[in-house]
Amino acid sequence: MRAKEAFDRTRALLQKHHEWFKGVLPLIASENVPSPAVREALTCDFGNRYAEGLPGERVYAGCIYIDQVELLAIDLAKRLFKAEHANVQPISGVVANLAMYSALSNPGDLMMCLAIPCGGHISMGKKKFGGTAGAVHGLEIEYLPFDERRMNVDVDAAAKKIRELKPKLVLFGGSVFLFPHPVKELSEVIKEAGAYVTYDAAHVAGLIAGGQFQDPLREGAEVMTCSTHKTLPGPQHGMILCRRELADAINRAVFPGMVSNHHLHAVAAVAVALAEMLEFGREYAAQVVRNAKALGQALHEQGFAVLCPEHGFTASHQVVVDITKYGDGGTLEGKLEKAGIILNRNLLPWDIREGRHYKNPGGIRIGTSEVTRLGMKEGEMGEIAEFLKRVVIDGEALERVAADVAEFRRDYQRVHYAFESATQAYEYVKIQ
Ligand SMILES: *Cc1c(COP(=O)(O)O)cnc(C)c1O
Repeated sequence: MRAKEAFDRTRALLQKHHEWFKGVLPLIASENVPSPAVREALTCDFGNRYAEGLPGERVYAGCIYIDQVELLAIDLAKRLFKAEHANVQPISGVVANLAMYSALSNPGDLMMCLAIPCGGHISMGKKKFGGTAGAVHGLEIEYLPFDERRMNVDVDAAAKKIRELKPKLVLFGGSVFLFPHPVKELSEVIKEAGAYVTYDAAHVAGLIAGGQFQDPLREGAEVMTCSTHKTLPGPQHGMILCRRELADAINRAVFPGMVSNHHLHAVAAVAVALAEMLEFGREYAAQVVRNAKALGQALHEQGFAVLCPEHGFTASHQVVVDITKYGDGGTLEGKLEKAGIILNRNLLPWDIREGRHYKNPGGIRIGTSEVTRLGMKEGEMGEIAEFLKRVVIDGEALERVAADVAEFRRDYQRVHYAFESATQAYEYVKIQ
């Protein structure tokens, strides 16, 4: 392909992606749609600059406005999460976790966290699986005992194991995250064992900010890491909140430890997103959780094996469905995509034991953050459940469902819970 052809083709593909997303159901639990103001900030000149160090003590010139924006982002993060200290420089959630590991532990130390089939994330993984904690920072990993029926940490068994193993870090949080983790119940035990209480809020930061999930920093967590683009509807970036006494260690672990340039356009977009969350976060997060509960209920009524029916299916933005009656998660993910329903396959806690694999696991995970930002409420969750049933249970023609999904989506094109939403959610904005 000649250069100009590749250039034109790339730009055409971007526009095609935007067109496609105007007519599908975006249900991936780790994704969201940012406000037009967040997208605008992402295109600003900050993204072409360097600002190593903290505001006011930069290694580069040209940072007059960059400093003010980063200070605003820090201040907004502290207010929103009622945190003593915030660092907004990690360029992603994984980098935030790695910075936290390096601030609080040494290679060879032990961390306890969730196993991946129970909701743990690759950034918490063992060395033999190539996980960040093990393979990059050299941590030894032991798993927190997990109650599969309740899809949560088993408090008594965990307390016993923590007392026995005396880890250096205990990390709560995960990527499959239906109910608040027992931070309050275990933080004394963890501290008595000489460990740090830490919390990975990558998935639930927006719910925490909106006061609709647990509040880890009030429940004993000393450090909370997060991504800024999952339930928190900002740009792809990361953030660390912590106690004042840990501020220097965290700051130094981030820079010079983990970043040189810290994606300043993303910091600007984080500031915008945090301000919007301060204004609209409570209302947004409450609707996200109501929608997830309603979706769980509606799918259950359609005949799906939604996990945790006796606990209301979920208390977060996601529901998990055991899909083994109809096939495997990988195949169904592909079919649903062709029907305009974008979600992802997911390991269930018992999958590996039963011989299933991450490529063809027994579950699918469905998130309600993005459709909530498009203005959908409980009633629309019933319609989404119906679309899923038509594909998975009835085996209807995928093109026909896709056409109906696109028609259904026509009324949901703007971003809600934002100061300004004149530009449509998936409008391709041209600068050139
Ligand atoms: C998504 C996720 C991360 C990593 O986030 P990135 O911003 O993609 O690097 C870390 N921890 C958990 C639990 C996650 O789900």
